[in-house]
Amino acid sequence: MTTPATPRPPRVKPPKAMSAEDERYIDEYVTRSVPEKHQLATTRALKGQTMKAASVKMMCLQCSGFQRNEVTECRVITCALHNHRPYQK
Ligand code: SF4
Repeated sequence: MTTPATPRPPRVKPPKAMSAEDERYIDEYVTRSVPEKHQLATTRALKGQTMKAASVKMMCLQCSGFQRNEVTECRVITCALHNHRPYQK
């Protein structure tokens, strides 16, 4: 008889303490400026609920106007995130 697999822990951190004003600002920014497809992930990253790799991914997507191919083709070698950016060939 095998024991059931232990469920994986969620990849989302618990919410970080943040002022209501900051939360409103983030929510407004996300609603107005982030494509719907990326809104949840961006909100989580901005509220400190994601792991570092997901935060880097969201930073690069924000930086490149949420264009994945722009992140792939990024030539800003002076950016501290360049070697860690997602979607590299
Ligand atoms: S690595 Fe490129 S896409 Fe990512 S944050 Fe830096 S400049 Fe922007």
